[in-house]
Amino acid sequence: MAEASLVVIGAGVAGLTTALLLSRHPRYRIYVVAKHMPGDYDIEYASPWAGANYMPVSNRGTRAAEWDKNTWAPLDNLARHHPEAGVHFQECQIHNRSKDVGSATAEWFSELLSPSPWFKDVVPDFRNLDKQSLPEGIDSATSFTSVCINTALYLPWLASQCLKNGVVFKRGTFKHISEAARFTNRSQKVDLIVNCTGLGAAKLGGVEDAAVVPARGQIVVVRNDAGKMIDISGTDDGDDEACYVMTRAAGGGTVLGGSYQKGNWESQVDPNLAIRIMKRAVAVCPALTDGQGIEKLDVVRHGVGLRPVREGGARVEKERIDGVWVVHNYGHGGAGYQSSYGCAEEAVKLVQEALGGYLAKL
Ligand code: FAD
Repeated sequence: MAEASLVVIGAGVAGLTTALLLSRHPRYRIYVVAKHMPGDYDIEYASPWAGANYMPVSNRGTRAAEWDKNTWAPLDNLARHHPEAGVHFQECQIHNRSKDVGSATAEWFSELLSPSPWFKDVVPDFRNLDKQSLPEGIDSATSFTSVCINTALYLPWLASQCLKNGVVFKRGTFKHISEAARFTNRSQKVDLIVNCTGLGAAKLGGVEDAAVVPARGQIVVVRNDAGKMIDISGTDDGDDEACYVMTRAAGGGTVLGGSYQKGNWESQVDPNLAIRIMKRAVAVCPALTDGQGIEKLDVVRHGVGLRPVREGGARVEKERIDGVWVVHNYGHGGAGYQSSYGCAEEAVKLVQEALGGYLAKL
């Protein structure tokens, strides 16, 4: 049977999910080429640093909300039927403080903080919590069943599912996107390139998307168990700091966050911020340390990741560059996991549109 050769650039959650969905089509021969692969921890590779949970911040009626909506069912399926993927269900509480109205975090979370967000009928068990049950200083809160992904298991799981379907993985770094069309040593023509380079899209020749910027997220991973996920509308320590806790599936530890520092490329841990993150976490979730202080936190590692934000939203679209079709799927900011299947499904449709006529002629 005639085949088309596809090169997916990037092995983060966007590249791996797109490659996996493409690999279910028998007429595509797929290569994933990336500078960083599952198992690496690097400032240029966002995916391992994510919490990662499903907590939509997309606004009602947008493409982003559609991507998030279409991602819930696949994640729910993984949590229910595929324990080896490292995804589990966990209660997620969103705490809201009136004093945060207008702050950067509250603006970012505006839909999430609503008592009636669009996703209330998508996730199970959505409810508004009784004011009496809330900790001091919290004015309202919602709760729902979400998932938390152990990225150290999930990224290799995605890669292994791709390998099972015949996808070929190669290390490679491209200066210009068109180099991907020549990467198979000219032995085989590349028919289409899928661009899942995250923050790399800002510098990759032929793309150089000036709208792509980092939003620095600092985290602490601890061995303590939080029991549930908690997120708050803001902190008293500055507009670009955040407070959340989530316990990853299958012994992945609990992630304490964080920050959302736009335009900040700093890769090194800020020790003062780390202390503030831990103090806020034990205050919002006393169960972490049985009501004691941060000295009772058992730290696995401190980390920094850069969310690949794209002003105006993620780019999922196709274009021709140097005579070759390119399907873009990058710029997912702080939502790369919770939008992963929705975006990848759309990317696959664009690949089919671009190659449809070509394959029909073979
Ligand atoms: P990346 O994971 O950065 O992968 C990019 C890939 O492209 C890499 O393989 C890289 O090597 C490759 N690449 C780039 N340029 C080139 C080149 N020129 N040549 C070859 N290869 C190249 N999201 C959620 O949904 N839920 C969460 O709870 C969540 N929490 C987060 C917490 C933190 C602290 C951070 C930092 C992020 C969080 N995110 C969360 C966001 C999520 O991590 C990102 O949206 C997602 O990882 C982006 O994935 P990606 O595949 O687009 O990019």
